Amino acid sequence: MQNKWLVSVVWVAVATLISVNVAAKEYLVQDQTQFADAVSSLQPGDIVTLADGIWSDFEIDFVAKGTVEAPITLQAQTPGKVLLTGQSNLQLAGEYLIVSGLYFTRGYSPSNAVIEFRHSKTHLANYSRVTNTVIESYNNSEKFSGGNWVALYGQYNRFDHNALLGKRTSGVTMAVRLNSKESQANYHRIDHNYFGERPILGSNGGETLRVGTSHYSLSNSFTMIENNYFDRCNGEVEIISNKSGANTIQNNVFFESRGTLTLRHGNGNIVQNNVFFGNGVEHTGGIRVINGDQTIRNNYLEGVTGYRFGSGMTIMNGVPNSKINRYHQVDNAKITHNSFINLDHIHFAAGSDAERTAAPINSLFSRNLIAHNNNTDGISVFDDLSGITFKDNVVHGADELTIDNGFASKTIDLVRAENGLLYPQDPALASYGASTQLQPTTKQDTGPSWYTKPELSVAFSSGKTHTVSSTPKALYKALTAAQSGDVLQLTQGHYTVSRPLAIDKVITIKGTKGVTVSFERKSLFVLEDGGSLALSHLTISGVDAPDSAGNTMIRNTRQPTIHTYRLSMDHVVVKDLDINHSFHVFDSGYRAFADEITITNSQFSNITGDILRLNKEQDDLGIYNAEYVTLAGNEFSHIQGTLMNVYRGGTDESTFGPHVFVHNNSITNVGMGKRNKSKAVLTLHGVQVTKIEGNRFVDSPVIVINHTVGEPKTLVADNQFSGMSAPVIQELYATGPVTATLVNNTFTLNSTSTK
Ligand code: CA
Repeated sequence: MQNKWLVSVVWVAVATLISVNVAAKEYLVQDQTQFADAVSSLQPGDIVTLADGIWSDFEIDFVAKGTVEAPITLQAQTPGKVLLTGQSNLQLAGEYLIVSGLYFTRGYSPSNAVIEFRHSKTHLANYSRVTNTVIESYNNSEKFSGGNWVALYGQYNRFDHNALLGKRTSGVTMAVRLNSKESQANYHRIDHNYFGERPILGSNGGETLRVGTSHYSLSNSFTMIENNYFDRCNGEVEIISNKSGANTIQNNVFFESRGTLTLRHGNGNIVQNNVFFGNGVEHTGGIRVINGDQTIRNNYLEGVTGYRFGSGMTIMNGVPNSKINRYHQVDNAKITHNSFINLDHIHFAAGSDAERTAAPINSLFSRNLIAHNNNTDGISVFDDLSGITFKDNVVHGADELTIDNGFASKTIDLVRAENGLLYPQDPALASYGASTQLQPTTKQDTGPSWYTKPELSVAFSSGKTHTVSSTPKALYKALTAAQSGDVLQLTQGHYTVSRPLAIDKVITIKGTKGVTVSFERKSLFVLEDGGSLALSHLTISGVDAPDSAGNTMIRNTRQPTIHTYRLSMDHVVVKDLDINHSFHVFDSGYRAFADEITITNSQFSNITGDILRLNKEQDDLGIYNAEYVTLAGNEFSHIQGTLMNVYRGGTDESTFGPHVFVHNNSITNVGMGKRNKSKAVLTLHGVQVTKIEGNRFVDSPVIVINHTVGEPKTLVADNQFSGMSAPVIQELYATGPVTATLVNNTFTLNSTSTK
């Protein structure tokens, strides 16, 4: 038995090798003890094979020394059939090691990383490779102590054909570390990986790939990042955060990813032959240039919508004599032969302010092709551009050129070529924009061949419909039996719900005319981690709720959650949440984060608490509770609390949200209760995009909007305010006038409501 797993194989040395034949061994190991035994005596050429099955709580220490001719391999018996679950991780250290075919799932790493190319601070991996491996949704339940998934140390390592998806905690998905000389000038190669969906984090720390840190950013890294596919990497404003020198980022595809490839620190990087497909998705970005000697050539960007630092192309202003962690001046940037197609924004000298006064110098912008359906060049200029030479760029039919010299406006007919990209039909324009030789990396080209890349999120109403009657417990039982994506269709009747309904999947609950719901506990719905809820065509009353303060119709679990969630209400009537004081409609949990909260065509009346409480992150770290909040076409009346309180504190600029849209609502006598400490009808603090349009506000306190950082966009337009004063909008950090736009609002001091 002892030796049964030790299979001796004769390793045939390749004839060209200098070494004599070595009897390499293959160990098929069944458990952690056998693995440790095998690893303790590994020789060049040996292979350790993990038996197919579930390996739980397995911290793999793969420490060995192979040779260039005879590397040492750690592999799955069948690629993808070795599951590392629970609290597992991998550290490799030594030389010429290969790891292949592992699948990290259903758990999280107990340490700082899932895969680390080192065993200790000084014992690193060199000339080693991790391939054919997956890390899927391998998350700690503590959202903001997530660590990195992959940490590359040492030199000459390769990370290829892996898939990393579903990171929901803070910490970069993959980091190249340069924190000692042994990890600098590393010549790593990161290629053919599938960087799959990374949901919006709602904070800094959601980068997908970071190379270096500001501290070591003047060191050259020589890392090659090529042929990877970045699929909806939406964590934060930076998809790739390059913070070191002499890296090459090429032939990658960025698909509908919110954020940019940012050359944040370090000089002499090359960004070429990359393709960005924004497909019109909000906040999709391109390339952001900072520092010296950066080359940006032959990239193709299409349908990219981002603005400001998240634009399709952003050339930043620097800080004179910048500290290492601020903004070094753009010097000797070469931006040539790029195609900018339906790119909404190109920003030159972006971020120009009292600190960032150093405009780009010695730079070239040439042979680029700009074509936008809206006959615009999309260019904005924020400072002196005399340091950039503009030469031989063409723009499709722009009504007006933003920059006079170096751009020619022409009518350019574009046709889609076999490679899926658009090129000018006119052969005379062939030398502008990206090359026809570009071959975009496909999703299929990346990740392990054994792995079917899953969709992580389930859409509402994508599953089966179950008809539910109003008999006691029927709703509860149907909910328990339902699958994510299913619809519970309630038949006519009154539903008295006697226990809080835990929503731990994606569920739609639909009523019809004559469906009424009341509940006997402090909450009707509790959103658990992984749950999302859509309600429609229901009337919900608070009359049967307990006579105690602080009831809440819908709330998140009290535990922190890591899955983003969605909450939607359409054609819902909510009334009589007034049995006691502070009876709220929705209360966010601490460390809960909504992708979207959407309330449409609904009516709310006689409520003693607040409608939406989205102010649970009071630590002022730029963390908040919801990315998109929309109220449209609703009626709110006689609400003692506030319509909403959205809070994003601090000065961090790593997120695009929150976004708040309040359209075409009727809001009467909302926020006048003595327990509404905000004394506001709604309070938005640190919201990045606000649109309050076409509403009728009557007999309610003021709107309060606090602008923090990030040049927030606020529009308050076409509203009627009766018996109320004008919105109070303040700049908490920026000096100068308030940047909000207030237009076409009408104010009548006397109330017009009938009380
Ligand atoms: Ca960041």
